[in-house]
Amino acid sequence: MLQTHIRTATCGQLRLSDINTTVTLCGWVQNVRDKGGLIWIDLRDRYGITQLIMNESDADKDVVLLARTLGREFVVKATGTVIERIAKNDKIPTGDIEVRLTALEVLNAAKIPPFLIQDETDGGEDLRMKYRYLDLRRNPVRRNLELRHRVMQETRLYMDGHGFLEVETPVLIKSTPEGARDFVVPSRMNPGEFYALPQSPQTFKQLLMVSGFDRYFQIVKCFRDEDLRADRQPEFTQIDCEMSFVTQDDILEVFEGLTKHIFKAVKGIDLPPFRRMTYADAMRLYGNDKPDLRFGMPFVELNDLTQGHGFGVMDEAELVVGINASGCANYTRKQIDELTDYVKRPQIGAKGLVWIRYQEDGTLKSSADKFWSAEHLAAIAARTEAKPGDLILILAGGAAKTRKALSELRLLVGAQLGLRPTDKFEVLWVLDFPLLEYGEEENRWFAMHHPFTSPKPEDLHLIESKDLGKVRANAYDLVINGVEIGGGSIRIHDRKVQEEMFGILGFSPEEARKQFGFLMEAFEYGAPPHGGIAFGFDRLCAMLGGQDSIRDFIAFPKNNSGRDMMIDSPSSISQAQLTELSLDVKLSKV
Ligand code: ASP
Repeated sequence: MLQTHIRTATCGQLRLSDINTTVTLCGWVQNVRDKGGLIWIDLRDRYGITQLIMNESDADKDVVLLARTLGREFVVKATGTVIERIAKNDKIPTGDIEVRLTALEVLNAAKIPPFLIQDETDGGEDLRMKYRYLDLRRNPVRRNLELRHRVMQETRLYMDGHGFLEVETPVLIKSTPEGARDFVVPSRMNPGEFYALPQSPQTFKQLLMVSGFDRYFQIVKCFRDEDLRADRQPEFTQIDCEMSFVTQDDILEVFEGLTKHIFKAVKGIDLPPFRRMTYADAMRLYGNDKPDLRFGMPFVELNDLTQGHGFGVMDEAELVVGINASGCANYTRKQIDELTDYVKRPQIGAKGLVWIRYQEDGTLKSSADKFWSAEHLAAIAARTEAKPGDLILILAGGAAKTRKALSELRLLVGAQLGLRPTDKFEVLWVLDFPLLEYGEEENRWFAMHHPFTSPKPEDLHLIESKDLGKVRANAYDLVINGVEIGGGSIRIHDRKVQEEMFGILGFSPEEARKQFGFLMEAFEYGAPPHGGIAFGFDRLCAMLGGQDSIRDFIAFPKNNSGRDMMIDSPSSISQAQLTELSLDVKLSKV
């Protein structure tokens, strides 16, 4: 099937059953070894590596001469006979055979590559990005893209099989506030006006529901002008979906099914039914709206046991909360100091760390011995379900900050204990997110998910009573191993409610109409109840590939400054282009 008019086989295909056949292979020279009259060439293509061999004494002289001129990454066409290898290589599938060369043609010479094109390369990140097309020749990166392809095909198969219609939505749209900054594109034909690139197809997919499409999906590029981290790219891909006439459970069932289908098809893993947890419980038990449930170590609140004994930091704290680091009683002083330094880093901001060691002899020792009696320590140990050999770690302070800090500490200790292996998957739905969160700096309410998310009907009275922080939304996230893989919500489909929501978010009626008049008008022409979800496709692929960074699951990613190092973008444009776009400003870089 992979035969062409130039080659008869690939470099990953030949086996003992092919012995004595004449073959023509094409590929890149991985390596040439020349030892006392015997020359070996490792020829590589996307499918594998095949060893070519020639013996100076009986090979064509011109072929031998040419073979001696080959450099790494030369592109060659090689013809010969498949023979059994004497020294077999059980590390590669073609390791039982080699090809005795009879003809060789150089299809293209290559400069010496700037880094080794091997699984373990000597190329640093910048170099690999600049020469990404060479990096993509390496097995680990190529395999990631093959995995991505598989996930994409399986997604389409599943969605199509469940009645979803793939509809493309436009890329040149208008600014929509979804939490991030927009990338904008100047319009030549409309001087002074701009398109925005979509942060997601949110409003379009809702309009498709008004159109009656019922079940929509799209594997779609989204754009967000945010500061970048290892798991963020300015352009990324979503599996985006919307459904009509559904409850939250309908959506969770379909996408639990999709996730299971992908895990089975790509990893051969049968995932058990997904756990479900409310946002409130996730925050209370793990200090995190995306808890990593590959291990336990839940939070235990300790205010009543720790306060009132003269330990100032504890007594003043809004929250005293601890975890039981099971089996860590043997942590050295140095290790505990490192944990303390970790939580005291400015990004985490804890004031200190208190520990209680449950020693093997059954006695309890603590950094707070001065304040807490043996009975107090025993009560804390009992509540945290500690046993001999365990180490209890306690933080105290403002509730939100302390939970966040303990969450980081829990993840660190979990990692140190090897409790977060990349080949174990714990999948969780987090439900009932708050509808709104208050921005202290901006002094206003923000939509936690986005402005189109509906409040839970049973919490509507809290909007009337202006208890906005307590209103829960019909919003949900899919979390795998502590990573948010997707999120969605049941939407507002009533004009009045949507108008009210914009009001709460600080839009004047005119602003709301200007930005979202089209959507609100559509709601007046028979909008069905609807809801949906989007999965971060790159993250899902990285998760399946057992890696943290999404970068190597994207063929041509950008670096942390949002640059494509290979094509050197972004770049300045000519004065003529600027003029044409009515952007007649002199930029300092031009
Ligand atoms: N548009 C949302 C997002 O990008 C997902 C959704 O609500 O369906 O996060």
